[in-house]
Amino acid sequence: MRPVVLCFSGLDPSGGAGLQADIEAIGQAGAHAAIACTAITIQNSQQVFGFEACAANLVKDQATAVLDDLPVAAIKSGMLGTTDNIAMLTQLFAERLITADTPFVLDPVLVANSGGSLGDEKTLVSAFRELLPYATLITPNTHELRALSGEQDLHIGAQKLCAQGTYAVLVKTSHDFDSGDIEQYLYIKGEMVHKSTLPRLTGEFHGSGCSLASFIAGRLAMGDALIDAVRAADSWITQTLRAADAPHPNNEQAQLIPNRF
Ligand code: PLP
Repeated sequence: MRPVVLCFSGLDPSGGAGLQADIEAIGQAGAHAAIACTAITIQNSQQVFGFEACAANLVKDQATAVLDDLPVAAIKSGMLGTTDNIAMLTQLFAERLITADTPFVLDPVLVANSGGSLGDEKTLVSAFRELLPYATLITPNTHELRALSGEQDLHIGAQKLCAQGTYAVLVKTSHDFDSGDIEQYLYIKGEMVHKSTLPRLTGEFHGSGCSLASFIAGRLAMGDALIDAVRAADSWITQTLRAADAPHPNNEQAQLIPNRF
């Protein structure tokens, strides 16, 4: 069968972000997505109304059922929602229930694009410290990078995370809405090895970060080298955002939903 990416992610009922973004992006990368659902959110293209996280045991049981059964070739995490879920995923790596050479793409989701809370930021940040060293790649936006590293300077922040054990960091300026084009910097072992500039399209997109991280995880599962997976994701994500659906074309607050097909 196709290589499998096991995703730890939340349900977004609008279908823009979360596990639906993961399934569609990973499918487009040529792999098969399996999901351990971490939370059920209540949101639409305009607002997050709340969420209920799944208990860590429930998430673990979903994950181990898949790990025992399918050829898992990469792991991806998105919204984890609680420190218990972060600790549980850390434990899966520490206890080698996930094998050490399995590529792991960690999207350190702290808040939704719309600004809504997807967990308590301070406690999530400190719990992430234990998980980050297991990541092959983390994909923070500038807010997440600063929160995780405690550094304002993006270059120093990315180097610090690599020094703490993360293999690679892809820094995205996508959420700095008043900056010009979107820049993405890939650091491997603290060295910047790739920089891309993507056009900043009009509007805000719901689930662009999930889609990007999942597409990369899908390509890694398919055997791409990290830098090739990132390059492939650059052009794929631009195409999905150009084709995005606008549920409320006259409302600037409403986000667009990437068209991943
Ligand atoms: N995961 C879930 C379940 C979400 O609802 C969201 C945002 O709403 C995210 C992740 C992060 O989304 P984005 O890709 O827009 O950063």
